[in-house]
Amino acid sequence: MSVFISGATGFVAQHIINQLLEQNFKVIGSVRSQAKADKLLRQFNSNKNLSLEVVEDISNLAAFDEVFSKHGKEIKYVLHTSSPFFTECDDYEKDLLIPALNGTKGILNSILKYAADNVERVVITSSIAAMFDFTRDLDPSYFYDENSWNPDSYQEALTDGGHAYNGSKKFAERYAWNFVQEHKNEIKFKLTTVNPCYVFGPQLFDENVTAKLNTSCELINKLLHLSAGDAVDNFFVGNFVDVRDVAKAHLLGFENQNLVDKRLLLISSRFNAQDILDIMNEDFKTLEGQLPAGVPHTGALHQWKGAIADNSKTKELLGFEFIPLKKTIDDMVTQILRKEKRL
Ligand code: NDP
Repeated sequence: MSVFISGATGFVAQHIINQLLEQNFKVIGSVRSQAKADKLLRQFNSNKNLSLEVVEDISNLAAFDEVFSKHGKEIKYVLHTSSPFFTECDDYEKDLLIPALNGTKGILNSILKYAADNVERVVITSSIAAMFDFTRDLDPSYFYDENSWNPDSYQEALTDGGHAYNGSKKFAERYAWNFVQEHKNEIKFKLTTVNPCYVFGPQLFDENVTAKLNTSCELINKLLHLSAGDAVDNFFVGNFVDVRDVAKAHLLGFENQNLVDKRLLLISSRFNAQDILDIMNEDFKTLEGQLPAGVPHTGALHQWKGAIADNSKTKELLGFEFIPLKKTIDDMVTQILRKEKRL
């Protein structure tokens, strides 16, 4: 029996595939074109347990029908990671909300049509964006946890790119939970959602370190390419989790019975630009004098007076320690500097 993963080319998905192959799962992934399939298969050394299928655009509600009509009976676990992740675009609805929502609608309905009897577990990559009111991030009286929901209406989600991305994750996740309720007598599978905050960490393959990285890693890449005289923008602030832990949570998400019906809020710690620069400045001799210093050790990791996130339930359920910011940044920076021949 196989694991199906949508969006196999993604930053997070590649780490998930790597961990699945390490555990000898047979993996079927979807990618947007044959050229992307060929590249990814080469990167995974043509691993015999990995096969890829082309699913061009998840905005199309029937996008997954072909792959599930072909492979549905071999699939036991489904990991749905594909979704647009950016905030700058021309049309918030067409570029963000529709693909996210239709992707989730499409894959769940394809399972219902072609694999209702054999898919046992579905894990959807949602986001902290579906869980909290990010306009209140600086409000110390605001508390959120695994039961919280982003309060935005569909109309509010169309306000700007940030609201649109957050809304895209909220409405897609909501659809999934409603779907399992509505179809509980027709499906076998149980649902788990993985809701990460900013995901940082090395690319699975050095080859994927390009001048501009995926949306979350690009934040770190930008800081690494500042000059000593640049200002430190401490509005660049949030929660982070390492990509290797996100991948691990997806595997546990379908392997562990106690994660059925759970929303997993993945947070390792808070950070801001100062914290990241502190680590870069202290751990990399080669960067000496090249980056802004700011005011060392005054970042959000040391003092945070805003909203309180509580993911203690998730930590207890997963049962492993999240990788700390220092290791994540060290591994990312090492990889980028190695690629740029600056180590
Ligand atoms: P990436 O941009 O690296 O990966 C996104 C994946 O989705 C890619 O495979 C991409 O294909 C695919 N995709 C996007 N739009 C479409 C579309 N219209 N049709 C078909 N495929 C599409 O992002 P991440 O790996 O960072 O994110 C993976 C998941 O994790 C997403 O669901 C994201 O919302 C979620 N997430 C990510 C966080 C982060 O900080 N990285 C935080 C919280 C949640 P292609 O490679 O061809 O573009």
